[in-house]
Amino acid sequence: MGAASAFRRALAAAPAGRALALAMALFLSRPLRRLTAYAVALGRGEPGRRVKVTTGDELERLGDSFNAMADDVQRALRLRDEFIGVASHELRTPLTVIKAYAQWLLTRETDQEKRRVLQTMVRHTNRIDELLREMLTVSELRAGRVEQHRQRTDLAALVPEVVTAMQTLSEKHRLLFRSAGPAPVDADRNQIEVVLTNLIDNAIRYSPQGGEVEVTVTKDAGWAAVAVQDHGMGIPEEKQRHVFEPFFQIQPAIAGFGGLGLGLYISKEIVTRHGGRIWFESTEGQGSTFCFSLPLVEDNRT
Ligand code: ADP
Repeated sequence: MGAASAFRRALAAAPAGRALALAMALFLSRPLRRLTAYAVALGRGEPGRRVKVTTGDELERLGDSFNAMADDVQRALRLRDEFIGVASHELRTPLTVIKAYAQWLLTRETDQEKRRVLQTMVRHTNRIDELLREMLTVSELRAGRVEQHRQRTDLAALVPEVVTAMQTLSEKHRLLFRSAGPAPVDADRNQIEVVLTNLIDNAIRYSPQGGEVEVTVTKDAGWAAVAVQDHGMGIPEEKQRHVFEPFFQIQPAIAGFGGLGLGLYISKEIVTRHGGRIWFESTEGQGSTFCFSLPLVEDNRT
């Protein structure tokens, strides 16, 4: 039954007063529903949508105000992204110079105390550089300026390389790797390395007591999946839906955790742009498992 005939039947079946109220409700409900859906989308951080209400009354003016507000939000977000991009780019140049001088001094210094100071300088400039690189990546992703250079990549070969490199970051953790044979995907190797590094780095940082971090590559129904499991602090249930949002952090004030809350946002963007999926399971106090999957490509060589 069409909407128009349902409307006519409802009117015919109702007494006069109720028929008028029903007609008003049906007439008003569509623009109201549209405005509500639009406000919810705005709240979810989708300022790109616009609402069209042509009722010629207060509702239409409310719709216009919503649209003006969305314009402002979009402009502010664009300015934020531009600022992040310019600031991080400009800050990296002098930082590179400071780091190069500290490294140069380190090659000539023999006094142990001064060497320790220089080593601390290099370590901290590296950390700032990582943060600036993340900020730059976010602004480039949002401006659509990140290109992909995809090639056939075997996750079962790439993942253990990253695992081995990251084992050097912590003596308290034991990084374990498991795979069930080759898992070829069509991917930008560097970008997938960024995702792996983020997930393993988080697994280490958010299990400060140490322990095992298990990294597994599996294949199932045309998909290759990577899982990074830690036994650390986990994520409280009420915070879980925000975890992939930019600048989201659960423990921003706790010293030593570092980070800007951008790693998972960047990882999600990269995986999604590869046609994949990223998700996690976590129990507070017990640990988390972060996973991502990518479409498998035909493997004619194995
Ligand atoms: P950050 O650089 O702050 O770690 P991310 O985007 O990588 O940013 O992560 C966002 C937030 O999600 C983190 O600040 C942390 O609170 C939480 N988180 C991420 N990974 C884990 C994990 N493995 N265990 C517990 N909390 C995590």
